[in-house]
Amino acid sequence: MTSDIVLRNLRPMGGDTVDMLIQKGRIIQIAPNLSAPDGLPEEECGGALALPGLVDAHTHLDKTLWGMGWREHQAGPSLREKIDTERRLRREWDIDPHRQSMRQALLSLGHGTTAIRSHVDIDTEVGLAGLEGVMQTAEALSDLIDIETVAFPQSGLMSRPGTAELMNEALRMGADVVGGLDPCGIDADPKGQLDTVFDMAERYGKPIDIHLHEPGELGAFSMEMILDRTQALGMQGRVTISHAFCLGMPDRDRVRDLIARLAELRIDIATVATPSRPVPLAEDLRAAGVTLCAGTDGIRDTWGPYGNGDMLERAMLLGLRNNLRADADVEHAFACCSTNGAAVMGLDGHGLDVGCSADLVLIEAETVTHAVVSHPPRKAVLKAGRIVARNGQSLKEAP
Ligand SMILES: [Zn+2]
Repeated sequence: MTSDIVLRNLRPMGGDTVDMLIQKGRIIQIAPNLSAPDGLPEEECGGALALPGLVDAHTHLDKTLWGMGWREHQAGPSLREKIDTERRLRREWDIDPHRQSMRQALLSLGHGTTAIRSHVDIDTEVGLAGLEGVMQTAEALSDLIDIETVAFPQSGLMSRPGTAELMNEALRMGADVVGGLDPCGIDADPKGQLDTVFDMAERYGKPIDIHLHEPGELGAFSMEMILDRTQALGMQGRVTISHAFCLGMPDRDRVRDLIARLAELRIDIATVATPSRPVPLAEDLRAAGVTLCAGTDGIRDTWGPYGNGDMLERAMLLGLRNNLRADADVEHAFACCSTNGAAVMGLDGHGLDVGCSADLVLIEAETVTHAVVSHPPRKAVLKAGRIVARNGQSLKEAP
C-alpha cells in the first residue's frame, strides 16, 4: 500500500527548508512552497530534519526476548557456551520466532528503520520454524518494512549433519541469502563449509552473508578462502562478511592487503561496532572503497542484554568505536546505518532524491551529525509515503 501526501517545511539532510510531494509512494517533487494537487493530505513538519529510512543490515529477529519481561543473562563467555545456552533456553522459554520478530521489527520501525536483513537460525533442533516465523512477519509487515532473511547455520554446518539439507530447504522456501559462520572456529572444516555455502549460492542464485568472528590470522585465513571462492565463482558484488574481526588485528600491512582484495572483489562488510572486540576500521574501508554497512546484531537475547533497535544510536556507537569527530566523518557513520545498508541489500530507490521511494525519517535535529549524537525520538517515519510511526512508536501495535 502506498500513499500520496505533501510534506511541508522539512530539511532533507539538514539543507534548506522545502516541501516534498509524494505520489504512489515515490518522491515526485522537492521545492519551497509547492502548490500541490487539491485534496492531497498535508503534513506540517515544522522545520524537521529529514533522513532516508534507516537500514539494520545485520540482526537476528528470530531470537530477541523483547517484551518477554527481564531475563537474567545466563550464557558463559565463549561462542560455544553462548550457542549451547541459547539451544537450552529456546527449549525452556517460549521464544516464538513470529511473535518476537514482530516485536523487534516494530520497535525498529518506531526508530525509523525501514529495511532489515535478519539472519535466522537453521539447525537440526529448531529446523525451519525460525525461518517460517520471520517470513510470516515479513509478510505481515510488507507494507511497513522490508525484511530480508539469511539462512544461518548458527550451530554449525558441517559439524551438525542434517543442517545442509535444512539450509537447502530454507533457500527453496524463499530465504533470500545464504549464511555461514566461522568455518574454522565452529566447523573446523573451512573447505567443507565454504564449498557448501558457495555451492548453495550458485545453485539457488542467492547472495552470501557469512559471520566471521575468527580473530587475527585465523580469520584472515578464512577470509582469504572466501575471497578466492568469490573470485573463482564470479560472485563479485554478491558477498557480505559480517563482523570481520580479523580486520581489526594489529598487523596493519596484512589488513591493508586483505582490504585491497575486498575492494577489488566488491565484498561488503557488515559491522555492529562491537565495543569489546577488535573491529574493521570504518576509515580504512572507506578509503579503499569497501562498502561498510551496520546492524544492531542480537537485541536483548540469550547472547546479551543490550540493544534497542535504534540505528541512529548505532551510528553514534560506530562513531565512538572509530574515533570519528569531524561532522563529515560522523556523516559516514550515518551512511553505514542507512544508504550503505540499502546498497548491500540491493534496495531499489533508497534516498531522498526525486524518484526515490518515500521511506524517510523526520527528526528534531539541526544536521545529520547532530541527529546521530543526540538521536531524539523520531518525530515521524514514512514508508512509501505513508506515516507508519510517530514520536518513536510504530502506529501498528506489536503482539
Ligand atoms: Zn549476528
